[in-house]
Amino acid sequence: MLKYNLIPKPNSYQALDGTYTVSAATEVLCAQEFLSAGNYLTAYLKTSPVKGEGTIKIRKVGGMQPESYTLKVSPEGITAEASDARGAFYAAVTLKMILMQAQKTEGKAIVSGLLIKDCPHYGYRGLQIDESRHFFGTDVVKRVLDQMAFLKLNILHWHLSDDQGFRIESKVFPELNTIAATRKYAGLKGNGLPYRGGEYFALYTQEEIRDVVAYAKTLHIEVIPEIDIPGHTSAILAAYPHLSCKGEPTEAKCENGIFEEILCAGNDAVYDFLEKLFGEICPLFESKYFHIGGDEAAKGHKIWDTCLKCQALRQENGLKNAKELQGYFMSRANEIIKKFGKTAIAWNDCINDSFDESIVCQYWISHNLKAVREQAYKRDLIMSPDRYFYFDYKYKFLPLKKVYKFNEVKAGFGKSGQRIRGIECEHWAEWIDTEEALQFAMFPRAVAFAEVAWTSLENRRYKDFQKRLEWYKTYMRKRGINYSRIEKRVFGVKALPVYHLGKDGEEYRKSEALKLKE
Ligand SMILES: [Zn+2]
Repeated sequence: MLKYNLIPKPNSYQALDGTYTVSAATEVLCAQEFLSAGNYLTAYLKTSPVKGEGTIKIRKVGGMQPESYTLKVSPEGITAEASDARGAFYAAVTLKMILMQAQKTEGKAIVSGLLIKDCPHYGYRGLQIDESRHFFGTDVVKRVLDQMAFLKLNILHWHLSDDQGFRIESKVFPELNTIAATRKYAGLKGNGLPYRGGEYFALYTQEEIRDVVAYAKTLHIEVIPEIDIPGHTSAILAAYPHLSCKGEPTEAKCENGIFEEILCAGNDAVYDFLEKLFGEICPLFESKYFHIGGDEAAKGHKIWDTCLKCQALRQENGLKNAKELQGYFMSRANEIIKKFGKTAIAWNDCINDSFDESIVCQYWISHNLKAVREQAYKRDLIMSPDRYFYFDYKYKFLPLKKVYKFNEVKAGFGKSGQRIRGIECEHWAEWIDTEEALQFAMFPRAVAFAEVAWTSLENRRYKDFQKRLEWYKTYMRKRGINYSRIEKRVFGVKALPVYHLGKDGEEYRKSEALKLKE
């Protein structure tokens, strides 16, 4: 039995005799390369170390798995061991969670003896936010990163371009900073009333992007940008209409949905544009990965079918249909990405065998699950099935328990030879317009998700998780996090948010709320 409410649950835990007392005078001694772990702890302890007032040691040892650590509390002291900086950091995170819960007397924490030996189930533990549809800004993103680190998540997938806006400053393409970053209003239309604040403009400067990436790094979180192509590009095409098949003017979309706007696959100017743009964006990020989207391009395929340039290219290359043309397009985008030393990720609905095996498949839609399972033998795969991990879906459709019960084996993954790298939860922001709404969608589902990502299947029990979650809820209340109180699934409720995700732990209709105000 765990003495403390640790989430994610450590994979091995043993109670030891005795206790150890920690105070603000306790020294934190750590290996030079584990400084981030030491800093994380001292920031919490607000330490002013005094010799002889006890020590917490964070030591480097050889031969441990990446990200794994041991943590021992005994009357002799507290010692953490790891072989890499991430492992050491996670030891510090676990210890912080323990210290928060330890019995306190006169400003000192009395920690019970224990031995934890821990390592993650998945190496890739991702969380995605979408700032094309709604923009949150640096402060909100940093708070999300803090929460992620506390839950031992290690990848932020940052969706920065879509039909509703392009959100990274470009020094090469100035119209991206104005036209592509602006929509007439941010749509909650069809779900209440349109945004009343008028024009919606937002973007990150390159300096802000670097700042977020550097902040994430101190928390051992890698940031992967996504520039979604060839569909979901209305904002880019509003700025540069000559990159579309018809060359007609368009606008960054106010409303939500899937649109026909698509980059022309038969125009070399498009590939030149992507090369310059990716060349500018890639160096801002340290991750080796770069997400090139590729999803939901079917409406655009109809445009490709009527475009002379696209037709000529198809004939030249013997491509039978628009799907194959997209394969060609994604391959060329991948070649560009490779030139900048990155590995491309793309959504599963565009991937087939013709794709270079270096392209990572991100599985979200299950309509052809057999093909996805097959792809897992051919390339690295990240799992974010919408029915489990799309946290913009309503709680009544995707409750906490369902998230927790995700089982890769039952889903037909986890077979020997399959290259499953990990899982990711998504926060599409069509209907998420504030930090409060983002927190509502995220919590407590992301807490369950973190345990699915870290703790092996045989160590997970939902009832046991629920007990530990009670402590996490107290923690969230103290921090003012607007988490959802909805527990149960309601059958017949649609996934997509006809409801706005809102305050007070309940889902409510934006239109009803507005009506009440009027
Ligand atoms: Zn075309």
